[in-house]
Order: sequence, then C-alpha cells, then structure tokens
Amino acid sequence: MDPEEYRRAAYASVDYIVDYYKTITERQVVSDVEPGYLRQLLPTEMPQEPESWDDIHKDFDSHIVPGLTHWQSPNFLAFFPGNTSFPSILGELYSAAFSAPAFNWICSPAVTELETIVLDWLAKQMGLPSEFLSDTEGGGVIQGSASEAVVTTMVAARDRYLRDAIASKYSTEEEKEAAIAAARGKLVAFASDQTHSSTQKAALIAGVKFIAIKTYPEDNYALTGAALTKAFKEAEDKGLLPFFLTASLGTTAICAIDKFVEIGEATKDYPHTWKHIDAAYSGAALICPEFQHYLAGVEYFDSFDMNMHKWLLVNFDASCLYVRKRKYLTDALSITPSYLRNAASDSGLVIDYRDWQIPLGRRFRSLKIWFVMRTYGAKGMQEHVRKTLGIGMHFTKLIQAHPDVFSIATPPRFGLTVFQVVPSRPEETANEVTKKVANRINNEKVLFLTASTVDGKECIRVVTGSPWATDKAMSEAFEYILTVSEEERQN
Ligand code: PLP
Repeated sequence: MDPEEYRRAAYASVDYIVDYYKTITERQVVSDVEPGYLRQLLPTEMPQEPESWDDIHKDFDSHIVPGLTHWQSPNFLAFFPGNTSFPSILGELYSAAFSAPAFNWICSPAVTELETIVLDWLAKQMGLPSEFLSDTEGGGVIQGSASEAVVTTMVAARDRYLRDAIASKYSTEEEKEAAIAAARGKLVAFASDQTHSSTQKAALIAGVKFIAIKTYPEDNYALTGAALTKAFKEAEDKGLLPFFLTASLGTTAICAIDKFVEIGEATKDYPHTWKHIDAAYSGAALICPEFQHYLAGVEYFDSFDMNMHKWLLVNFDASCLYVRKRKYLTDALSITPSYLRNAASDSGLVIDYRDWQIPLGRRFRSLKIWFVMRTYGAKGMQEHVRKTLGIGMHFTKLIQAHPDVFSIATPPRFGLTVFQVVPSRPEETANEVTKKVANRINNEKVLFLTASTVDGKECIRVVTGSPWATDKAMSEAFEYILTVSEEERQN
C-alpha cells in the first residue's frame, strides 16, 4: 500500500466507522455466527500474492464484521462496559502511525512524558493522595490491563516482603538466601471471595498461595477488617506469610466495596504486606467529586488501579496503575543489560517505564488518553459518568417498580443492577426461573447481559456505561426483559 492508496483507504475507513456508529443501535448486539465460522470463509494458507485493499475490505465487511459483538451498543448490558470514543480512536490511529515499542525515555521522549502528565492529571482529578503523583516517590504507569497491574504489583510486593520482612533479619548473604528460600513457599496473597479472579491468577503466576476470604450479605459482601484479621491470623497459625492483599472498589459480580479504613487499621501491624486497590471499573466514578468519599482509607494502600478502558471513554487498553513508592516496582523489575543503557537513563533525570511493568516494549497509550481528556474536558467526562449512572438508576427503578416479577439481589451501585426473577409457581425456584430468563435473553440476542452466581443465588447483572446509551434504549431493554420474564414465569 503506497501513501496515496493509504490516504484513500483511510478516508474510506473513517466513513465506514462513522456509518457503523450511526447504525449501532440497529445492529444485533451479539453475532449469529457459529463456532469455527471463519475457518469456513478464509483460505487455509496465507496469501502468497499481494491483494488489493478493495478486496481485503470487502472480506472484512462480509466475514469479520458479522462475527463482532457490538460492545458500544446500548443493548450491550453485559460484563462491564468497554468504552471507546472518537478522540480515543484517533489516538490509536496516530499511535499506530508512530509505532514504537517505547520502553525507555530515549525511545520516544514524548511517549514517556505524556504518560506521566496524563496520569498525574487523572490522579488529581480522582482525588488520589499526592503520594501517588510523579513529583513524589510514587507515580502512575499505564498497564495493559487490571490483571497485568495486579501481577506487576504482586511481583514488587513479593520482592519487598522477602527483602524487608525476611532477609533483613539476617546478617550474612548465606543466611539471607536460606531464609528467602524457606519463606517463598509460605507467601500468601489474600482477597475477598468477591474479588476479580485476576488476583488469584496473579498468585498463580507469581508462584504464591492464594486465600479468598468469605464475605457476607449483612456486610454487602465487603471485606471487613475483622474478617481480614481472622484470616491473617489463621494463615499465620499455619506458618504462612500474608504478603499481599487486594481490596476492591467495585467487585465484578456485584460492585461490592471493601472497607478500606478497617482494612488499613487491621493491617497496621503488617507494614511489609502490600495492599492494592482494584478499582478497575468503579474507579472511573472518582473523577466526580461526589464519589471521592469512597477513597477514605486509601492512605493505607500501596497501589491503586483503574481501567480507563472500561467506563472512561478510552478504548482498551488503558489500565492506570498508581504506586506510593515507585522504587518497589523498579527494585523488582529493573534489569539493565548493556544494550538498554543510555545517557538519559544513566542521568537519573528520566523515567524508563520498562522498569515499572512486565514487558519491555510499550505502546503510545497516553496519546488517546490525552486526546480524550482534552476533547471532553473533566466536565465532559463527568457528564458521561453521571449520565450513564442515571441510566443505570433508571433501570434499577424499573426493576424495583415490579416487585411481583423481580427482586433486587445486591445493592445497586455504579450503574449496576443485580436481580433475580421471582418465581410464580411453587415448584420453581428463583434460581431456576432466573437462569431460564438469562439464557433465553442471551439466546435471542436482542440484548446481551451477564448471568452470575452470588452466594448461591443465580442472578442477572445489567449495566451500561456506553456513551450511546439512553434512558429510552434502557426502557426498551427493560420492557423486553419484563416480557421474557413474565412468559418464563408461566412456562
Ligand atoms: N478487576 C475488576 C473489578 C474487574 O471487573 C475486571 C474485569 O472486568 C478486572 C479486574 C480485570 O480487568 P482486565 O481485563 O483489565 O484485566
């Protein structure tokens, strides 16, 4: 493709994208394709001869697009949102154009410096403590995902714990090494049983144990200080070493919020235990001052992570990880062979984000964040959050207005409604009818929602954070859910 061919193709792609968004509400949210559909449509070998863009785009339109799930559709009510926006798409375009695995500052100074600036802007806008800003000992770094963020912090936490809590008790290198080797198998990471599975996966990757602490409906499924104290004590009685904890601001299934202040108090005697806040979805709400009270207790925590790529108008990937002391990341993750050395890095005046993450190379992700921040401004982003929260609340109220058909399962939060269908026949349980309704809705593909089990209860989760969502679309979604539920209650 030569530059002029690119120009024509790119203009046409922009038209295609605009038309896509103009028709997004009319598109069936979930694809009809069957597993393996694409193998039947594409050749078994890669093309040997160059092909024209027209031919490629035709196949893209006829083979690829029909296999897409339309996450930006107002009928996408599953999981958590995966927003994008036009300025974010433009950021990706330029990022791809200037493609560079910018691991060190010198690899593209603007890539590093813009990242530091936008992450500081975001931290201030969310009301994070100043210790998480880059002009202190802390700072932010963009990770690919919240899962990557928790693995990264867990590796730093393991390193810190083994050095500061274990090795520091000994004087000779030999003793230190023996103590570290003995401690490794006893390290345990904790989280509540509502916490996203990424913490358990991180423990798996880091080669440490994982303990899920049970939560209860009377605490709204929050991890409490008392439960944490008990869990730590029980682990220590077995000789285990609690070195890491994830607390959540908005868990995946139900948006539970752990008790940060209680957790902070309960872990005061564990100065070497790393405390991480996973605010992957709900953290976006913190850009509005009225939600910043949820940060109470954050001063006890070592790290905080929020995905702009969920609810905050920036497309995947943009997981914003903040640490109180960046030294712990760089201590654990910095290895500098001669070919990565350079005068700028040696000067100590620059950040090399490769030392704050697991991979070496990194994308220019801050550009799309900067474009979004400037295009919307804090006010526009707040408006988006408040508007989608309002739409979520609108849905909650519709559910609550039909107590004969629906019951709310957990407190509605951050636009998420978790509910069950009330059975109408004595021989059917709420779990059974709820499952039937969820299955039928997802099979019919008018809407896409998530069925999840909360404490043994089969529930339906509905959430939207799409910039394309409206009260009207949500009312229509509700009417459809109501019709299906009423029919299934009789069947
Ligand atoms: N934490 C929470 C609360 C989540 O809801 C999710 C995903 O939905 C994650 C972590 C994992 O996010 P990611 O896909 O960025 O790894």
